[in-house]
Amino acid sequence: MEQLNTTEMQTAADKKKRSIYSLELHEIKDWLSKNGEKPFRAEQIYDWLYKKRTTAFEDMSNLSKGLRDKLTEQFQITTLKTVIQQTSSDGTIKFLFELHDGYSIETVLMRHDYGNSVCVTTQVGCRIGCTFCASTLGGLKRHLEAGEIVAQVVTVQQALDQTDERVSSVVIMGIGEPFDNYDNMLSFLKIINHDKGLMIGARHITVSTSGIIPKIYQFADENMQINFAISLHASNTELRSRLMPINKAYKLDDLMKAVKYYIDKTGRRISFEYGLFGGVNDTVPHAEELATLLKGIKCHVNLIPVNYVPERDYVRTPRDKIFAFEKTLKNHGINVTIRREHGHDIDAACGQLRAKERKEETR
Ligand code: SF4
Repeated sequence: MEQLNTTEMQTAADKKKRSIYSLELHEIKDWLSKNGEKPFRAEQIYDWLYKKRTTAFEDMSNLSKGLRDKLTEQFQITTLKTVIQQTSSDGTIKFLFELHDGYSIETVLMRHDYGNSVCVTTQVGCRIGCTFCASTLGGLKRHLEAGEIVAQVVTVQQALDQTDERVSSVVIMGIGEPFDNYDNMLSFLKIINHDKGLMIGARHITVSTSGIIPKIYQFADENMQINFAISLHASNTELRSRLMPINKAYKLDDLMKAVKYYIDKTGRRISFEYGLFGGVNDTVPHAEELATLLKGIKCHVNLIPVNYVPERDYVRTPRDKIFAFEKTLKNHGINVTIRREHGHDIDAACGQLRAKERKEETR
């Protein structure tokens, strides 16, 4: 039988430990109390994790040796192994990270004139099955722990520390359906938003869902000041069912009712993501139909010209048609922008890099 050396045994033991990044501040306080320690130490631990961004409990020099040992015994400070890092000519950086169990996830750093934004993954794979998306190839392997989502932001921030820059916004639009991993996603939001944590302002965080309706009601009731987006991609229910099978379970009419509830409850505007797929959903009549669907709703539409996806059968909408679509919506008084493309010269579409590099995971 093959023997493990000491380092391998240590690594195997670490894999079983909970990520300290998964714990909200009050949970660390509870853990400290239960372990005979003073709750105020939680703020010191947060400071080490999120301000100093240390990667070892041993470095937390203002904690007693006993407490550091207890932390080391029970938790790990999750580190993500960078398998591939692709940098685009526009500054976008796409990371393929490997998790402790060998699965891989994507995280993207995007440069805007208003700051640095990180797009995070919430699941290994996805079970929603949108027909245009490489992330769903191979289905869902597992949910990410909150700490594994937090670790993506921390890891990118550590890279930015070298140039004294900061992550100023976060979008939850990477691999996975965030509302399918709701509790971990919610903890993640609270941890990165906390003023003792990474201090990403609520209005600088955006979460996007394909439309899991019960969770939209639940999220509305959380009453957070987070930006909220729906991946819509269609102007009528038949078309949406073709592009996004989730529409068979959660129909467009019911989705719009949930959207109205969210807006009434929070007073916040909602964004609709609308990918333009050549010859499928990108004509002026589609834009007219979309304007009718969104009439009277406090919203903004993000048009996303979709690039050819090798694993799928969609082609790009020509420029003149993109502008005609935008103009039609504007003429109907709908707020609309065409999303700037990031990383057009790398595998920037969600799930593409993982699908290419980790074929065994995406079959
Ligand atoms: S678009 Fe989002 S929800 Fe749809 S399959 Fe891809 S990752 Fe899942």
